[in-house]
Amino acid sequence: MAHTKSRTAQRREKASNLVQQRTIVLPLDLETEQFDLLIQVAGFYNRMWSSLVSWCDSNRTVNRTRMQKDNYRRLREQYPQLPSQFVCVGMRDAAGAMRSWNSNRPKRKWNMRARRKAMTVNYDLRLMSVRGNMLTLSTLQGEKRIHTLMPEIPLWFDTLYPTRKLNAAKLMLDPKNHTARIALIYRLSDTFTEQARLDVLGVDLGQHSLAMDSRGGESKANNIWGVKRRYAHNRKTLQEKGTRSAHRRLKAMKGREERFIRDVNHCVSKRLASTPNIGYIAFEDLTYIRRQARKGTSTGRRRRNMLNQWSFSQLQEFTTYKAVRNNIRILMVDPSYTSQRCNRCGYVDQRNRNHARFDCKRCGWSDNADHNAALNIRDRAIKSLHEEQAKTHIPG
Ligand SMILES: [Zn+2]
Repeated sequence: MAHTKSRTAQRREKASNLVQQRTIVLPLDLETEQFDLLIQVAGFYNRMWSSLVSWCDSNRTVNRTRMQKDNYRRLREQYPQLPSQFVCVGMRDAAGAMRSWNSNRPKRKWNMRARRKAMTVNYDLRLMSVRGNMLTLSTLQGEKRIHTLMPEIPLWFDTLYPTRKLNAAKLMLDPKNHTARIALIYRLSDTFTEQARLDVLGVDLGQHSLAMDSRGGESKANNIWGVKRRYAHNRKTLQEKGTRSAHRRLKAMKGREERFIRDVNHCVSKRLASTPNIGYIAFEDLTYIRRQARKGTSTGRRRRNMLNQWSFSQLQEFTTYKAVRNNIRILMVDPSYTSQRCNRCGYVDQRNRNHARFDCKRCGWSDNADHNAALNIRDRAIKSLHEEQAKTHIPG
């Protein structure tokens, strides 16, 4: 079965990939006309960005397809001075800003109402190029591209990152002092092969335990369900009361419960991200499981229940942040049959699994069921890494 990764899964993998980028900032020596032209670009860029952010605010989405459909033509008409590629870059930029606003301020989601004032412009490779020390930047429609000589890349940067590829840049203008700098953002290509030698940690979420990894590390769920049940019981009692003070206590309790989940997720993600000698952490694409569950395909009732009661998405998000700091990448794999497949012989059968136990009906292999699933997740991730590597090594 072909598995198309959900958007969340794609975003998470990408977020953990940021570690493979390095940035160097260089001062630019621009002529006055060049500077003035770029100030104009920044002005238009900022207005377009603000308009995109308020679109996200009011439509409560960062979906790129919708964003493009609703805004592209309008922005092209509104800012004919900007080359169209700036609109695409601006959309990516605004969506990213919106996303980090939402995740940093969960209480004020979709309420960014920002105006962009900083005189910075994001460039992608369609809008710029670097040949030796010569930097070329697009400006306004109908104007010539700007050519300017940059200073040498410092030796330390060359030594640390000999194999790198320019990916994007950020132009920073200071109108007060009439100075300009450019941040060149490089993608590092050799970390991949370096990391491929490291181990992959497969993590199974929300089956019997809260989290079980392929090395046998476990975060148990027992005490958690006790706490959750207590909250549910108190909630019911307060709801039945229905008084104003009950309402207030209900609200406070909701906050406490959310903090409880958050604390546990912080704990578990910290444990996962500090596993020694791993280059990757592999998770199942849970959004995909939910979608399958809605379609009524075979996902255990217990699991569906657990997925609905616990914020595993938050757990994956926290793990991603912490993993990045430890130079660990996140991989999201196809979740189908990970709990029914025997890791030893590959035989898939629903009857292999009996609650917390796994006993293969074909080869007789026995294991903790969650651990067996975690091993399957790990192996699936290793397989996808090999495929990725094979793809990047095809010449041309
Ligand atoms: Zn078997």
